[in-house]
Amino acid sequence: ETKNNALMSIVSMEEHFGCAIADITTGDCFLTEVDKPQKLLDEINKFVPAEIICNDSFYMSNIDTDDLQNRLGICVFSLDSWYFDDELCRRTLKDHFHVGSLEGLGVGDYDCGIIAAGALFLYLKETQKTALSHMASIRPYSAEKYMLIDSSSRRNLELVETMREKQKRGSLLWVLDKTKTAMGARTLRSYVEQPLIDAEEIEKRLGALEELNEKPMERDEIREYLNPIYDLERLISRISYKSANPRDLVSFASSLEMLPYIKQVLAEFKSPLLTKINEDMDPLTDITSLIRNSITDDPPLAQKDGGIIREGYNEDVDKFRRSRTDGKKWLSELEARERERTGIKSLKIKYNRVFGYSLEVTNTFKDLVPEDYIRKQTLTNAERYITQELKDLEDLILGAEDKLYALEFELFSSIRDQVGAEVVRIQRTAKAVAALDVFASLALVAQRNNFVRPKINETGLIDIRNGRHPVVEQMIENDMFIPNDTYLDNHKKRISIITGPNMAGKSTYMRQTALIVLMAQIGSFVPADSANIGVVDRIFTRVGASDDLASGQSTFMVEMTEVANILRNATSRSLLILDEIGRGTSTFDGLSIAWAVIEHISNTKLCGAKTLFATHYHELTELEGKLSGVNNYCIAVKEKGDDIVFLRKIVKGGADKSYGIQVAKLAGVPDPVINRAKEIVEELVTADITGKVKDIAVQGSETKKKTQKKLDEVDLTQFSLFDTVKDDDVLNELKELDISHMTPMDAMNKLYQLQNKLRNRW
Ligand code: ADP
Ligand code: MG
Repeated sequence: ETKNNALMSIVSMEEHFGCAIADITTGDCFLTEVDKPQKLLDEINKFVPAEIICNDSFYMSNIDTDDLQNRLGICVFSLDSWYFDDELCRRTLKDHFHVGSLEGLGVGDYDCGIIAAGALFLYLKETQKTALSHMASIRPYSAEKYMLIDSSSRRNLELVETMREKQKRGSLLWVLDKTKTAMGARTLRSYVEQPLIDAEEIEKRLGALEELNEKPMERDEIREYLNPIYDLERLISRISYKSANPRDLVSFASSLEMLPYIKQVLAEFKSPLLTKINEDMDPLTDITSLIRNSITDDPPLAQKDGGIIREGYNEDVDKFRRSRTDGKKWLSELEARERERTGIKSLKIKYNRVFGYSLEVTNTFKDLVPEDYIRKQTLTNAERYITQELKDLEDLILGAEDKLYALEFELFSSIRDQVGAEVVRIQRTAKAVAALDVFASLALVAQRNNFVRPKINETGLIDIRNGRHPVVEQMIENDMFIPNDTYLDNHKKRISIITGPNMAGKSTYMRQTALIVLMAQIGSFVPADSANIGVVDRIFTRVGASDDLASGQSTFMVEMTEVANILRNATSRSLLILDEIGRGTSTFDGLSIAWAVIEHISNTKLCGAKTLFATHYHELTELEGKLSGVNNYCIAVKEKGDDIVFLRKIVKGGADKSYGIQVAKLAGVPDPVINRAKEIVEELVTADITGKVKDIAVQGSETKKKTQKKLDEVDLTQFSLFDTVKDDDVLNELKELDISHMTPMDAMNKLYQLQNKLRNRW
């Protein structure tokens, strides 16, 4: 109910893709075109349709359809080529939308998109076997209109569900969603999944929020009126499908009755977006009165058992109802008369679906039954009879009932069709209601949580003062969340390298920044004292070595695939959140990869994206001053004897220590292990491994050979430290063996001997 359920049609044509999306339960329908497989993938990620239909060449486009099926649960299958015939597709669309030319629909420029949409409608017509009259419009959109967020970044940022439990609680949507209607909930979700990149449009939304918060009483009044509104989009679909029952129509009318009240309150608002919403919102009073005048207040669910049509709406209905009630009266008169005539005191008129009306006489009075009674049915202690008079009465009553029910159903169907014919007005109104619900919700959330209106700029500056993580701050008790600043620009402050011990708050800080930027571009207020947000085109987040169990890929491979995607697609307008990348492999490989990645990003010719980079490789702090745009930050901790206290404050400079042992102690690792770890650290420091690593790091990419040599040295030092095998006779013996002249048995024996030698020594 709070999520769209989309079907996507994709047509791949010579490095060009047409893409159409429809949700038949709400009547939403969109179309677009993209020129690269990656962009198409972005669209798929944005909508996560339940099903994709495509032409055969889509399978040739480098998009991993198995992955779509396995990881996102999307069912993909191709249709015969005739579905994608240009002429047929155009005709299908023109017929469906009753237009002479596709230009009129605003889709004239979308050659591929038209084919995708045409195939989609052909397919829907075939599978749904019903008129799709509620799919009353198709909206072309430019894929460039929204911020792009790839699927793993969506997951990492926990936009609509948490990463582990897949629950809404704990996600950004959970904080933002105080909507009152199902339509509002769906719309907010799509806003969160598709933040804007046009500063003007963002400002419009912010303006609406601001005005709603300047008039909180009116805002809350609007929310009250939204409360009883049912899912108009789904109701109108059911109405178009002729599956709506009489009660659905009453719910529909009671929802529409709220519209005039809402419009009255809205009339006091001046911001362009709210004014537009008021304009789009049709009070639909004609439809409300049609339903109210014709349908009873509390009709049954069933459509064919009467009780639907209100009295006074139709003369015939009233007439049939009267003969039914009169008939009942005649029946009881007949009953009294027959009792009198026969002297049977217990004589009763009974009704039964199969046998109809009859006169029931208990066995004790059997002798008194007159001759003109015709036996109809025998029970254990009674007999049932019929007379000509009763038969005539029965025909009259039952006939009237049949006719009444048939007529009521006919009238109901026609009323339903009349409502269905207004689908365009109703859908436009439903969209307006949904948007209003979203803005009222965002405004309320902003007020309750002390969010501020962000300034929006297009110079690339991101300046957040005392920013907070919108979700974590809710999870932490009594305002204990420590706010932090973020400052990034396109010049000297492009890349922040953030060091600090585990648990210091690095990940929280970086996500908070990403979420604040994203919220601003949704058009929401943000958790900060002030924020100036330069619009970003994409947000990428990569969290090192978190297992992607679902897809069964090795963690490091996943990590690097995502890094590759980031490096290939990030632009100077993107925001990158890199959280301990390189963690999935050995220290030196990891450090080198992290290093090279930062070099690449900091090079404005290659990338130049704004980046927050958290790392436990202290060596990376050497990059400040050596690479342009790179700055060190760390999250402060205070040492208290053997313990550390997390201050959660971000400060300039690199962390000098990793405090890993203190964190281990905090976590409850037993003292003997902690003490032993301290000893080992001492030894390592004396052996100056860290120093050596630093040397290597500083040389950077100078010459590979040199680095390799140094790395080997370090490895050896590490070896000797743990007192393992020295130069060795066992090794010498192994080296000297002439394997080609040994039998398998000899070899086994030799192996056994050597192993024993080693065992004895250890
Ligand atoms: P790191 O990535 O440095 O290991 P996290 O960002 O995962 O650390 O933070 C660890 C925990 O510290 C979080 O679960 C959160 O509860 C707490 N925390 C982080 N930042 C803050 C903050 N600014 N104020 C209060 N608590 C915080
Ligand atoms: Mg972390």
